[in-house]
Formats: sequence, structure tokens, C-alpha cells
Amino acid sequence: MVIENEYLAGLMQRVMKRNPNEPEFHQAVEEVLCSLQGVADEHPEFIERGIFEAIVEPERIIKFRVPWVDDNGKVQINRGYRIQFNSALGPYKGGLRFHPSVYEGVIKFLGFEQIFKNSLTGLPIGGGKGGSDFDPKGKSDMEVMRFCQSFMTELSKHIGSDTDVPAGDIGVGAREIGFLFGQYKRLMNENTGVLTGKGISYGGSLARTEATGYGLCYYTEAMLKDNNSSFAGKTVVISGSGNVAIYACEKATQLGAKVITMSDSNGYIVDKNGIDLELIKRLKEVERKRISEYISFHPQAEYHEGCTLVWNTPCDIALPCATQNELDKAAAETLIKNGVMAVCEGANMPNTIEAMETFQANGVLFGPAKATNAGGVAVSALEMCQNSSRHPWTFEAVDSELKSIMENIYESSCKAAEKYGVPGNLVAGANIAGFLKVADAMMAQGIV
Ligand code: NDP
Repeated sequence: MVIENEYLAGLMQRVMKRNPNEPEFHQAVEEVLCSLQGVADEHPEFIERGIFEAIVEPERIIKFRVPWVDDNGKVQINRGYRIQFNSALGPYKGGLRFHPSVYEGVIKFLGFEQIFKNSLTGLPIGGGKGGSDFDPKGKSDMEVMRFCQSFMTELSKHIGSDTDVPAGDIGVGAREIGFLFGQYKRLMNENTGVLTGKGISYGGSLARTEATGYGLCYYTEAMLKDNNSSFAGKTVVISGSGNVAIYACEKATQLGAKVITMSDSNGYIVDKNGIDLELIKRLKEVERKRISEYISFHPQAEYHEGCTLVWNTPCDIALPCATQNELDKAAAETLIKNGVMAVCEGANMPNTIEAMETFQANGVLFGPAKATNAGGVAVSALEMCQNSSRHPWTFEAVDSELKSIMENIYESSCKAAEKYGVPGNLVAGANIAGFLKVADAMMAQGIV
């Protein structure tokens, strides 16, 4: 993948110079700029008005100290971030990630991707992302609560239900959202939908927990249908065992597929009989245990140490749902050798650029994250609607809206790819369709 357009190639150089040592951000920008070469040729006004320059520069970067006290009475210091990337379409919207690998470059890449993903949903939400290098793993509930309260004490100064509405991501699930919401309410004396992914008892939306995984499968099913296929009877390999992975496994199984792997950062399991999802939910959602425990309940299953070799398992469909760059070129070649027909991204940027190109060059159907995993943020936006109107929807109403949003994203990506001369390239299609709407809104709002 090469950026041939002179202006965009120069912009890429400037992005790398202005954001040194942030390879994940460079990777995300490069992929988008590559797709936008036809758009730059057709719309010289976007260059004149600095739209490309502005879209790669966050509107605001907030970085703060998060002091908290552990169970031994010792003071711990972490770093918190919120990057408010682009508000052309609506309030900043995007998750919070708590993981030791978090630094400014990771949050910037995620915030940048979020702009286009949110645009693709068709809902009025801008792009943002945040998080901390805090690791919730191995911490007590009280430690997690003290951390969340300290994090929100600072974050509350910068967010609001019409300004910036964070949600969960890696390491931020129902427990963390509850603690964050409780502290916001206490500080601001305001009971509004300032966070999404809330518990159902205090303003959450039905089907938000399932939304990203279900949405991934709705998109994949639309893509398969368009190619005279479906999930029925297919073997599926999934990585991860968190929120996205669990509900992707559930929906793929409901649609007639057999999911045979799941993983965590220590290793992966292969169960040829099909994953026992109730057990995974108990181990991961309730008991917070490692995936290796699975084989004590299912001795016929295999456990392999190390998570990257999960892609050696032969399958028809691969759904990477753990983290960025978890699937490289060698893994892509192995999957192709073993007959994979479709790959859709549940995690954000789980494929390296080389892996993605390898799939595309070998005729594997490929759905990119900013389209395929947009279901989570879409239902978050529906949660905002329900909070504003103080009127909760049924599970069926949310799920059916989610399905139609995912089918629309597939259609609009196909149409954009065709219009710009790259039919079937869903990566380019998603980038173009997502970008055009934001660019139009930025043009209309002037130089701000
Ligand atoms: P969770 O924290 O619920 O689960 C993450 C899973 O990925 C866990 O199984 C975790 O294993 C594994 N994992 C995390 N980091 C690594 C790593 N460095 N190497 C290997 N495995 C790893 O997160 P989510 O399921 O919410 O998020 C997964 C992905 O989906 C992320 O890329 C996220 O940005 C993306 N996403 C999530 C959305 C949502 O609604 N939740 C929406 C859109 C995208 P372990 O427990 O060992 O850490």
C-alpha cells in the first residue's frame, strides 16, 4: 500500500514528524490516507480548506495524573488520557481503555479510527477516546473503585452529556462504568447520560453488552450473503474472550456456525465440539479467571500457551476480537493455506497492514474494524437517545435497529468502494464513506 498522491504523501510525512514514536497512530492514518487518494483528486476544495490536515490533528488532548491508594495503603500513580479528536458530527464519543500498554499513541490511533466509525453509523456522534495505563487485572474491587473515582475526578471537568460521552473498551466493563458514573454523579450533582454501557438499573440500554459482537456478526452475515454464503455450517476461529469475543461467539453460533477457539493474553483453547459459552461467561465475566481453566471442565479441549498461534487453527471464518496487531502476515498466510474464506475485525486494527493486504490479494472477504465493530458505539448512541428521552427501549427494538445499522454500513461501504473505482474493497469503502460525511460537516462549519 503506497500513498501516491503527492499532497497526501507529504501529509503522512508531517503526521509522522509531529507525532514521533507513535507507530499505531501512523499505521491508522496511513491506511486511511491511502484510501482517500481518489477523494483528494475529486475534491480539491478539501485540500484548499485544510480538511485533510485538520482531520489528522486532534481538537484537544487531555493528559492527567491519576493518584490512588492501594489495599496496602501505598500511593500509586497512573496516567489518564482523553483525546477529543473531532466534533464535526456531534459530541465526542468513544471508549475508555484501561491496560498497561496504553500511551498517547494508542489513544490517538483509537480516537482517529473512531471519527470514521461513528460517521459510518449514520448517528450524530463525533470521535474521541481515552484511558489509562492502569491494569485492573489482579486488583481488588475496592482498588478498582478508588482508581475509577480518582480518574473521574479529573475527567469530569472535560465531559458532559452534550460534550463528550465516554464508554467502555479493553479493561473497562460494567464494574468500571458503574464506579465512574457514580463518581461523576456525585461530583456534578447531575444524573445524565454522560457515560454509556451503564447497568440497566441506572440508565443503560438493553443489548449494549451484546452490541459489538452481535453487530460484527450482522455485518459478516451481510457480507457473506452478498457472496452467496452464510454462517450456517461454517467453522469459526475467534481470538479474545472479553466483551466483543463472547457476544460474537454467541451470535455466530445462533446463526448456525461452530466456534472452536477463544483466547486471552496467556493462551488459547481449541474445542472441536464447539465452545461452551456459558462456561466462558462464568469464567471471564463473573469469576475473572484465565481461559486455561476451561480444560478442567472440558478435558477433550486443548489449551495452548501463547495467544498468537490461535490462527494456526483451520477455519472458514476468522474473527479477531482481542487487540491491535494480533494477526500478522505469517498468520494471514497460514489462515489462507488452511482455507479461510472471510475475515472480519472485532477488535480495533487487529490485522497489521501486511496481513490485511495478504487477505485482500488472495480473494479472502475482508471487513475492516471501523465498519465491522461499529455496533458497540451505535448502540451507545441509542443509549444516549434513551437517556435524553427518559424512555427505555426493548431488547428487540435495539437489536433490530443495530442489525439495520450494520447492514447499512456494509451497503454504504460497498457503494463508496464502487464509486471510487475499487469495487469489493471494503477497507477503502469504509474509509471513504466515513470520511466524506465528516468532511462535508467540517466544510459547512468553517475553519474552526
Ligand atoms: P475486554 O477487556 O472485554 O477483552 C479483551 C480481550 O482481549 C481479553 O480476552 C484479553 O485477554 C485480550 N487481550 C487484551 N489485550 C491483549 C493483548 N495485548 N494480547 C492478547 N490478548 C489481549 O475488551 P473488549 O472485548 O471490549 O475489546 C476487545 C477489542 O474490541 C479491543 O480492540 C476494543 O478496542 C475493541 N472494541 C470494543 C468495543 C466494545 O464495545 N467493547 C467496541 C468496538 C471495538 P486478557 O484478559 O488476558 O487481557
